[in-house]
Amino acid sequence: MSVPISQAWTVASYVLKRKLRGRKQYPLVLMLEPLYRCNLACAGCGKIQYPTHVLKRELSPEECFKAVDECGAPMVSIPGGEPLMHSQIDKIVEGLVARKKYVYLCTNALLLKEKLHLFKPSKYLTFSVHLDGQKEHHDFSVCREGGYELAVEGIKAGLASGFRVTTNTTLFDGADPNSVRAFFDEMMELGVEGMMLSPGYNYDKAPDQKHFLGRARTRRLFRAMLSNRKPAWRFNQSMLFLEFLMGKRDFRCTPWGMPTYSIFGWQKPCYLLQDGYADTFDELMATAEWTNYGTESGNPQCANCMVHSGYEASGVDYTFSSLKGLLAAAKATLFTKNTDEEALLLLNEPVKPVHAYNPLVQIEGNPEKLEETRA
Ligand code: SF4
Repeated sequence: MSVPISQAWTVASYVLKRKLRGRKQYPLVLMLEPLYRCNLACAGCGKIQYPTHVLKRELSPEECFKAVDECGAPMVSIPGGEPLMHSQIDKIVEGLVARKKYVYLCTNALLLKEKLHLFKPSKYLTFSVHLDGQKEHHDFSVCREGGYELAVEGIKAGLASGFRVTTNTTLFDGADPNSVRAFFDEMMELGVEGMMLSPGYNYDKAPDQKHFLGRARTRRLFRAMLSNRKPAWRFNQSMLFLEFLMGKRDFRCTPWGMPTYSIFGWQKPCYLLQDGYADTFDELMATAEWTNYGTESGNPQCANCMVHSGYEASGVDYTFSSLKGLLAAAKATLFTKNTDEEALLLLNEPVKPVHAYNPLVQIEGNPEKLEETRA
């Protein structure tokens, strides 16, 4: 695990306090979406399909601070859209760092090099760069040739300026586990602090509906990728969540663990579904019908979901629920090799990457024009 001790301690003490108070539902990471606008149009993304008047809107820094204060989570993830296109992203980050929140600014890094001067290195700020694999796979995934090189340039610039930099990778059907393992090597050589992984979610707004992973294929892919691990690989996420993805343990979804606040308000029930909105965080917690969600609920929208926003907080909650959980987390953190002879055989199976039978779709966008439409 690559999370700094001060961050791990902040999160551990936060969760333990909630446990001691008997709180069963509590937020761990606030997913703060200050805009939906983006300078990419990825085939697997459901966020950029909104009409122009929605894409023009932004949350103000004050609205962001109010949401963060209401929620109280120790970590804030800023996805989007592309946060670096927000006209006041520097003010938002500055205010969150001043509140001692651990901020993960999730960016495709196309603008990172030119906007780095807006930020100051801090243990509270991490640039989490979206990279979906090696060059060919990433460029295909984000529908942009040259996207990989630009992201790598951004990573190098961030690291050279003393920032914390991690990667976040979403994997879809057709991902080649050998290629992803080679990608892990590339990222470690670049010097990123750690990597985050998640399977993609089947957004009904996403243009490409054919390549989302079902649960069985997710477990198979992650078992192939993450077994027989190299000692150099570092992951910036719950090790028990990775074991869940590999099919080594089962968790129930805890959507309140990563609540989402956006230009529409507090989203019910999670980052992925939009079953209404609440005006305040307390209203969200009180009025969302939590029992209607998660794979066990029978809700078809949740049937194939194993994504981090539903299940990573479940792994953290399990860690602090009992001595057994603590020991499991310690074992998963200290003994990372995960020797598995059968998983080695999975690496020999032929893979037909999505782009082998489906050419790169270059979605035309005009980032400059979008930047001009700032609210
Ligand atoms: S299972 Fe997935 S889609 Fe359903 S509530 Fe949980 S995170 Fe959301």
